[in-house]
Amino acid sequence: MGSSPEYTYYLMNENKPTEISDLGEFGLIDRLTRDFPLKNESSKLGVGDDAAILEYPEKDVLVTTDLLLEGIHFDVRYVPLKHLGYKAAIVNFSDIYAMNGTPRQITVSLGVSSRFTLEHIEAIYSGIRLACEIYGVDLVGGDTSASVTGLVISVTCIGDVEKGKAVRRSGAKPTDLICVSGDLGAAYMGLQLLERENRVGAAAGPDFQPNFAGKEYILERQLKPEARRDIVALLRDKGVTPTSMMDVSDGLSSELLHICKSSDVGCRVYEDKIPIDYQTALMAEELNMNLVTAAMNGGEDYELLFTVPLADLKKVETMNGVHIIGYLTKPDLGAALVTRDGGELPIRAQGWNAFAGSNAQQADVSPKENGSEGEDQKEKSSEDAETKE
Ligand SMILES: [Mg+2]
Repeated sequence: MGSSPEYTYYLMNENKPTEISDLGEFGLIDRLTRDFPLKNESSKLGVGDDAAILEYPEKDVLVTTDLLLEGIHFDVRYVPLKHLGYKAAIVNFSDIYAMNGTPRQITVSLGVSSRFTLEHIEAIYSGIRLACEIYGVDLVGGDTSASVTGLVISVTCIGDVEKGKAVRRSGAKPTDLICVSGDLGAAYMGLQLLERENRVGAAAGPDFQPNFAGKEYILERQLKPEARRDIVALLRDKGVTPTSMMDVSDGLSSELLHICKSSDVGCRVYEDKIPIDYQTALMAEELNMNLVTAAMNGGEDYELLFTVPLADLKKVETMNGVHIIGYLTKPDLGAALVTRDGGELPIRAQGWNAFAGSNAQQADVSPKENGSEGEDQKEKSSEDAETKE
């Protein structure tokens, strides 16, 4: 945006939110989609015509889409809009990486209720832009519409993979090793923390300051997840081709069962091998929650779950950020968690499910006043955290 006259005007008037209706649909699209220079060779034409033009010679093309609804998937009372935009993009990139691919383009569609001003929408787009810059993805289209129920964000991502090299859920075999990147359960604990502080804050009144000291990691895992392109690159570098792969969005249990079903295998996963961060463990203790249940079923980790042939043991054993958590069996042995005392618990899909609807209340509240305030709040809270440490 730099020092364009328009931007100066915006700065001068930042206390006066801009009604979206003042800009008109095309004005809004212009405003939102500038500053998205095309980076990928496959992006022949971006925003500005009836459709984008993409060119993928000699590649397999991957397409994934994700719909986020206010009150179901996010709550604007404690999710800064910039982070929401970032996450909406990242979760789609993660699905492309989970196919062993590279994300190249996204389209973004928004449904916006009248509570939201231009500055709010720009905050969402600033998060999307940041994600696109970091991951080298082009914004090539989208749509905006008025919504009567709340904020709706739909992102579609297009990616590519060398012909025949996409990794599906269905290629795993008995005796394959089960691997997972990073650590699990932190995003779920971050959400529990945000919900708790929001409840306490609502009861305590406007002077309430949430205390996030020592909990920065779990907050970041919830509010600003990353997609594991580094792991996909590492596997390629080491010459390891996973037999199956998924990203952990609904929880490890749920993803494991998907692989077992698609590949017609069973599995044994060791409780003591599941990677869990110290902050996650502390938070679970503070909230009196079962840590392993949180790690198995929490979801939103956006780590990669993959299987490799036993012959690759030596290679994956030494990979930074990769943990071997179990192995695949014949299907008739079922899916089970091997507990610390050697017992077996059947793995069930208890992953967080938007359709269950128990926590799905429509948030009838105003989003944060201006577009950048959300970020300021996040920064403020981490400043607080630092000073209290
Ligand atoms: Mg996925």
